[in-house]
Formats: sequence, structure tokens, C-alpha cells
Amino acid sequence: MRCPFCGAQDTKVVDSRLSGDGDQVRRRRRCVVCNERFTTYEGAELNLPRVVKRDGSRVPFDGRKLRSGIMRAAEKRPISTEQIDAAVSHINRKLLGSGEGEVSSRRIGELVMDELRELDQVAYVRFASVYREFEDVAAFREEIERLERQPTAAEKKAQLDLLAGLDPVPDPAANKDKP
Ligand SMILES: [Zn+2]
Repeated sequence: MRCPFCGAQDTKVVDSRLSGDGDQVRRRRRCVVCNERFTTYEGAELNLPRVVKRDGSRVPFDGRKLRSGIMRAAEKRPISTEQIDAAVSHINRKLLGSGEGEVSSRRIGELVMDELRELDQVAYVRFASVYREFEDVAAFREEIERLERQPTAAEKKAQLDLLAGLDPVPDPAANKDKP
């Protein structure tokens, strides 16, 4: 690695550690000629598949959109940033592991639902109840915002019914009239 200060060819690594969520290596280097120090980051160059939307258009995969969609579903829920990072990283790994050049937006939505199902039922329901109708995470987010502003009675009931089904609460009154 050439020194960015004096152009010398010979630099030494004085420190090396993992950075971010462990997918990068940060190296502190020192030039043996001018003694200046600088930092380099080393990471795998990964090509995530392009996203095929429902209308057939192709857009580059956007990791920030993916993360913000998950964060929106996880809002005010007991889900840590670490858990969200892990979910994003699982999804990225699956997308990369598929070896495909393209992936449907629907498939990405399913991967998100797989992760949220493990993390938190409410976040999962928020995502699942609306995602299937939408082309991408941004559209999903807009819909969630709309629902929060003005949820209809039917939408509220559907979510409550689903939650009740996931986590039944015994009703002591139910057996009251039985002999
Ligand atoms: Zn130098």
C-alpha cells in the first residue's frame, strides 16, 4: 500500500481490528519513510442482486431502505438495534447466497417477514398485514404511516384478531355457565 502523503511504497500495519458489524477490517498503517499514519478499510466487494418490482422494473438493491422498513415495523417494540442489524445481515447473506443476479421485491418482503416473525409478533404483523400489497419497502412505510394516522375499525380488528390468534389469553368468564 502506497503512502498517501509521500508516495513511498513501503508502509507497515501497526493495528488491525474488525469494524462495523464485523464485515470490515480497519487497518492503521505507518509510512516507514515519512512516518505519517493513515487508515485503510478492507471489505468484501459484494454484488447484491437487482430488485425486480411488481411492474417488472429493475432497481438496485437498497440496504438502507431495507433497514428503514424493518425499523419502522419495529418502532416502539422491544427490538434492539443489534437485532435489527442481525436481521439485515441475515437477509443480505441469503440474497448473496442465492447466487442470482435478480430477486423479486416479493421475495425480499418474505425474507423480512421470516426475520420479524422470530423477533416480535407485533412487528411481524405490522409488516405482514400490509406488505404483500406493496411493491417495495418505501411503499410499505407510507402505508404504515397512513394506518397510524387513521386506522379503520376493520384494520384494527384484523390486527387484534391476528394477535389474539397468535397469543390466546384464557377467558375465565368462558366457563362460568358450565356445570
Ligand atoms: Zn510517507
